Amino acid sequence: MSDKATDPTKPGDKPSVTQLLKRLIQVGIGLTSERDLSTLLERIVTEARRFTNAEAGTLFLREGDLLRFAVVQNDVLRERMGELEMRRQFAEPLRLSQPSLAGYVAETAQPICLPDAYGVPKSRPYVFNQDLDVRLHYQTGSVLVVPLQDATRDVIGVLQLINARDAAGEVVPFDPELETLVQALASQAAVAIRNARLEELSFKDPLTAVYNRRYFMLRLEEEARRHVRFAEPLSLVLFDIDGFKTINDRLGHRAGDDALKETAQLIVTNSRSFSIVTRYGGDEFAVLLVNTSKSGAVKYAQRIRDVIERHRFSHGQLTVSVGIAALPDDVLASEDLVPAADRALYVAKRVGRSTIEIA
Ligand code: GH3
Ligand code: MG
Repeated sequence: MSDKATDPTKPGDKPSVTQLLKRLIQVGIGLTSERDLSTLLERIVTEARRFTNAEAGTLFLREGDLLRFAVVQNDVLRERMGELEMRRQFAEPLRLSQPSLAGYVAETAQPICLPDAYGVPKSRPYVFNQDLDVRLHYQTGSVLVVPLQDATRDVIGVLQLINARDAAGEVVPFDPELETLVQALASQAAVAIRNARLEELSFKDPLTAVYNRRYFMLRLEEEARRHVRFAEPLSLVLFDIDGFKTINDRLGHRAGDDALKETAQLIVTNSRSFSIVTRYGGDEFAVLLVNTSKSGAVKYAQRIRDVIERHRFSHGQLTVSVGIAALPDDVLASEDLVPAADRALYVAKRVGRSTIEIA
């Protein structure tokens, strides 16, 4: 989405309320169509900072009596310490019992707008917690803190913007006109977060936290369409744990569950981020490898098989058998992909365990 098309203002000019509203509507549409939760949270902060020209923005999510730093964007700190170190610095959540601006907003749902965080009048019911500034040698100036309230008016999180800058780069107070807009943005954001969370729940396997079969079927269709349109190859790798029943029988269902979780985690950490790792059923995992040909899928399968074979699980060791099928090498229609990989897996199990078979 480009601002340039709708916002003819030059940098430094103050956009009109109508222009801002137009932008807000566009941003809202963009947010509600974002399904991936972590991408969505990042975008909310990015957009709020763009609206206000804020140097930094934090999105807290409420978890019981804690506020977790879900997103921290801070240009100054990132430049100084790098993205990873910055994340490390914000790993510890805020406690609602400790006084802070974000904590106050989470508890009361009242927004706070201050020209200077260090100048909070004594009469106010909240205080600015200086700990982070001191620890990070950072100077918080102006702040705008708004609640993220869902449809039931529960505060699910808090959006905090720090150090609005003017065209010359000087820290200035947040424009009161923008305060209302940021609140509107926060309401849209809360709805989008709720939807993305629900969607995440309905597409994830609760035990292993990888995607479920429902998500697999959706993505298979989507990727098959991409294959038809762009002639990109698509491969499917099915893993089934060998003799899994004996883990359950010998060590109990709990040990079986742990083995499933560890297997899922091993596959995820050894797969590329755009590979679609799913729990297809009981002890069977299906991985869709987008834009990957059969030979790439075989290499991938060998790597995962070896990683699993070498891994020391909490219960001991285990192996997997693997079936592979690829579009267009083995089958031409997407609905034939799973049956073909299934047949290959069946052969692998018959040949002997820890084997890879190709359709
Ligand atoms: P094979 O080597 O032929 O793959 O046999 P296997 O012993 O691995 O057994 P199979 O794949 O045929 O069956 C998987 C078993 O996984 C059956 C079921 O009781 C068990 N199972 C399915 N879901 C779960 C689960 O969520 N937790 C646990 N602990 N066990 C499960
Ligand atoms: Mg099995």
